[in-house]
Amino acid sequence: MAKTYTFKEKAPFQYRFSCEHCGKQTDWLDAHIEEQETKQVGLFESAEGHRQAFSARFWENTYPKARKALEGNEKTLYVYDINGTCPACGKHQSWESKTADRPELWIGMAIFCFVVGLICIGVWISGTSSPGFPLITVTLVSVIGFPISLFYAITSSIKKAAISRDAENVKQQNKPEFLWPKDKEG
Ligand SMILES: [Zn+2]
Repeated sequence: MAKTYTFKEKAPFQYRFSCEHCGKQTDWLDAHIEEQETKQVGLFESAEGHRQAFSARFWENTYPKARKALEGNEKTLYVYDINGTCPACGKHQSWESKTADRPELWIGMAIFCFVVGLICIGVWISGTSSPGFPLITVTLVSVIGFPISLFYAITSSIKKAAISRDAENVKQQNKPEFLWPKDKEG
């Protein structure tokens, strides 16, 4: 017997940037580094022990790595709410091109879900397999996954096109500045 726990750690920080197009500097904007872990904990184990181990890994590993990646302008997981759209003129910054979602991953995912979904539907129609739990799960995941990944494929393609269009006629390349309030809150 085991119980499922979700552990979560969150490190807020702030950033600002000078717009590469209109030159206006933004206010300090809020963003955060966050990681979640879902874990099966045995009945006779301590959930608190697992939570503390997760917390230690976050602050010793995930947080400094994500922070370093941000400062080096590299794509990284675990970072939320970073946005380089200028609040004054609405244009994208060149540094966004490195941190934006990659549409090709979502396109690949959409194709994968589509093909797997078709195969599942084929199996259902042909009746070659009795509809057991695995078949139902795979069908559901691919049928739900297809429109979601298609949506992200389209929106991230549009965003990426806008970023590279804006990056073409940029006067100067800037980088965002970061403000790290505290390495660990409470
Ligand atoms: Zn601007």
